[in-house]
Amino acid sequence: MSGERAANPGLELAVSVIRDGARDQPCPACGDRLGDCRVELRDVELDRLSAEISCAACGASHLITASPASEDGSASIQ
Ligand SMILES: [Zn+2]
Repeated sequence: MSGERAANPGLELAVSVIRDGARDQPCPACGDRLGDCRVELRDVELDRLSAEISCAACGASHLITASPASEDGSASIQ
């Protein structure tokens, strides 16, 4: 048993929460929907996640924060 990298279901869930939150939001740079953006986790806290997302259309990256615990589970792009 020599797993090289430990899979972390919690972090994968966090990434999918962020991606779901960003999916329908417009890219601040080009205005396209972020849909298939790339998500890179930056910071994971109990009630807040932040990640860098890269727009699939124009390649610009943005910092996004998501709060899974909030009422609507919304994410916001900064
Ligand atoms: Zn864009």
